Amino acid sequence: MKIEVDQNICIGDGSCVMIAAKTFKLNPDGKCYILNEELGPEEQNPSGHVSSPLTATMDTREILIEAARACPVQAIRLYEDDGTEVKL
Ligand code: SF4
Repeated sequence: MKIEVDQNICIGDGSCVMIAAKTFKLNPDGKCYILNEELGPEEQNPSGHVSSPLTATMDTREILIEAARACPVQAIRLYEDDGTEVKL
């Protein structure tokens, strides 16, 4: 699975962090980024779209779907390994 966050529309309310604290974190300017031990926020973020593969240190698929559904502005998108978007 691949996780994407559109920081251009993220309003920083923290819903995703409360549900999936092993995957999402707010940076000092209030935008959500993805916790990846190998990729820092800058490496994930060429244009306000952070993205990362799901790794073993992150939350489960079910929790990520719950977090994406809870985002008030639909800033979180999830993709299967074949690139198909996960329906929320
Ligand atoms: S739930 Fe959505 S709007 Fe809120 S911090 Fe997470 S990505 Fe941003």
